[in-house]
Amino acid sequence: MPQRAMISLEKRPRYRLLDGPTPIQRLARLERALGLAESSGIYVKRDDLMGLGGGGSKLRKLEFLVGDALEQGCDTFITTGARQSNHARLSAAAAAHAGLACELVLTDTVPREDEAYRHNGNVLLDQLFGATVHRQPGDVDALTVARRRAAELIAGGRRPYIVGAGGSSPIGCLGYAACACEIVRQEQELGLRFGRIVVPNGSSGTHAGLAAGLKALGHDASRVTSFSVLASVDRARETTIQLAGQALDLIDPDRPFTDGEIAVSGGQLGAGYGIPTAAMLDTVRLVARTEGLLFDPVYGGKAFAGLLDAMRSAAWAGDGPVLFVMTGGLPGLFAYEPTFRPEEPAA
Ligand SMILES: *Cc1c(COP(=O)(O)O)cnc(C)c1O
Repeated sequence: MPQRAMISLEKRPRYRLLDGPTPIQRLARLERALGLAESSGIYVKRDDLMGLGGGGSKLRKLEFLVGDALEQGCDTFITTGARQSNHARLSAAAAAHAGLACELVLTDTVPREDEAYRHNGNVLLDQLFGATVHRQPGDVDALTVARRRAAELIAGGRRPYIVGAGGSSPIGCLGYAACACEIVRQEQELGLRFGRIVVPNGSSGTHAGLAAGLKALGHDASRVTSFSVLASVDRARETTIQLAGQALDLIDPDRPFTDGEIAVSGGQLGAGYGIPTAAMLDTVRLVARTEGLLFDPVYGGKAFAGLLDAMRSAAWAGDGPVLFVMTGGLPGLFAYEPTFRPEEPAA
């Protein structure tokens, strides 16, 4: 397959929320602390560095989701998530920026009742961005509640736009297909090729979008490895394959995925979504102390623990430099403040 540097996303409605490409940086101090060979460099793509709403990966998806909502003439953005959802917070920020009303259906899926989790972090920011929050028990189907609310709004003459958890619709995935183009361009500028591109996998749109983008460019989509932080590994893989196929259909329907191109690991999930692991705690502390960089406890901390484990055990030896996509989620650290108290063991 010939390789391309661009794919046709120009025709898609897009509401710009990023200021430009996010930087790629090498973590040389961390490499030295791990005693790694020069050839197996660890690089990060700083998708936590974005100007709007505290930044993070969801803004890439929201460029296409908000673009679609505006194109359809909608006036209210409705979405769902767990109580400390980064996607909900960034939806509220993006909606404020685009002049849309925002309503969030947030479920108590994570078994935490402490003050920090209930009120700090993303919850504080949702309120500052002016979103209307509909809080629900953990066992409620949030999308059904969202649809009911949308029906009420329509009856009142409003035009709602509904997005599911994580913004991982095929249109949302286009944000990470665009990111794949950005990474390939940066590889050319840096004069290197990442043997692996590592991401957390929650609602699977980040992995699916990157895979679709690489595939459409004629690159090897199996370069992307994700660590599930939400679903069982089988379910996460299934969702990722399905979403990647749907996203690819939107940009290049003539190149279907083949078996084995989507690599998902379940090794860092622990007891479940939003439940801390000892490896996550060690990882967040190690990277903060060696590099001054921050991972969140729900996504980046767990996925980067998987990367460190693979580096230490030389599981990816010979693959060349590795790129980890830092997806943001800093407010999550404040929501988990009790977990990071030095005297407390991992909850
Ligand atoms: C949502 C999120 C992810 C996971 O992305 P998905 O597309 O849902 O798999 C990773 N990191 C952070 C900080 C997130 O908020």
